[in-house]
Amino acid sequence: MSWTLKKSRDLFYAETGQPRGQAFWIDEAVSMSGAGVEPNAIESAIAWNAVGAASRANCPLLHDVMVELSSIVDPRWKARVDNIYAGRTVDGDNTAFSRGGVKGGMVAISIHYSQSLIAYAGAWGQFLYAVDSRTQFPAEDWACLMKNMRDDLAQLMSDFQDRGLAVLSKSWPVLFRDARQRDAVGEIVASAERWIVAHEVAHHILRHASSKIDEDAAREVRSFMAAPAMRVELVGLSRDQVQEIEADLLAFELVAGRFAKDTNALIIMQGVVGALLATIAVGHLDGGWATSPDSEHPGAFTRIAVLAKWITLEHGDSPLAELPGANPGMTFQRLTAILLTYALWASGEEDVHPYVGSADDQAAVDDGEPVWIQDYLFFALQLGMLEADDETPLIRQP
Ligand SMILES: [Zn+2]
Repeated sequence: MSWTLKKSRDLFYAETGQPRGQAFWIDEAVSMSGAGVEPNAIESAIAWNAVGAASRANCPLLHDVMVELSSIVDPRWKARVDNIYAGRTVDGDNTAFSRGGVKGGMVAISIHYSQSLIAYAGAWGQFLYAVDSRTQFPAEDWACLMKNMRDDLAQLMSDFQDRGLAVLSKSWPVLFRDARQRDAVGEIVASAERWIVAHEVAHHILRHASSKIDEDAAREVRSFMAAPAMRVELVGLSRDQVQEIEADLLAFELVAGRFAKDTNALIIMQGVVGALLATIAVGHLDGGWATSPDSEHPGAFTRIAVLAKWITLEHGDSPLAELPGANPGMTFQRLTAILLTYALWASGEEDVHPYVGSADDQAAVDDGEPVWIQDYLFFALQLGMLEADDETPLIRQP
């Protein structure tokens, strides 16, 4: 049983109802133009040949992601990955999904999901600046600032869900301080998309859709979950939910370059930020922060906790200092803790304690009081995920 790209492409169009064989951006030219995309970029996106013999996607950017994934995947899985077709959809109900059959496998990612990542990547930058500025304000004022920022993000996301990209475009000045930050946001969104596509590809590698999973790949990914700290997160999850966790972890290791055997701190960092921001966006879009037994996916907090633990176990002490923008004292463990903190802040969930601390930690916060950022930082400290060094800023000022 082997897949062909043509069958995979047919499956993509059959499953998604996208106009058959058409480059995705043809119908999106107006919204791209409204969002300030350069005319040249629009032209080449529209001219993309979605049905060329070697075309892997209905969008040139996704094509590049698929080609890249093929080049960094373990050779054991390459033939299957080489024949997966990916595409963007206007599906408002699904963030991303994959389907496989006897002759092909496809991956779909919703443009709505991708666009929402702009807001989370932009807010992540603002969040880091705000955390760094905490010593410049009285504690109460700073807590108020963080709360207002979060309310603004929630409002922006709610408007975006109603009215789409135009709402985000109007917020560009709020989301990006300058052109440099806008570029940085673009890179973060690309990293998040790469991880999302890798998550769907990972389902195919593991053959989750088939009655016979790939034992070899399953063994690999289960070895990631062998540590007690990881296993405890899986307690009570359904089979489907565990498969989502498997796809999350395999996707992270794919984009972090584990199987290419050629990686570095920058590639790993892109994987960390991409995986966690993509999962935070799912939590916000679906409102699925907590795990519910009848949902196919685990709650976003469960997925984030598993990823955060795995990243900390694998790369925790590795320094990020040599990367541009990172400060001395920044490690993967610390970056992961800040992302975890960002997830808790972005969620606006007041009942977040089960995700971040022990019962004792919970008792430390007054009942009924909203939990804001200083508490999250406190929990991250308690978990040993942050350095107890308030003086080290998270990002280097330009
Ligand atoms: Zn999945």
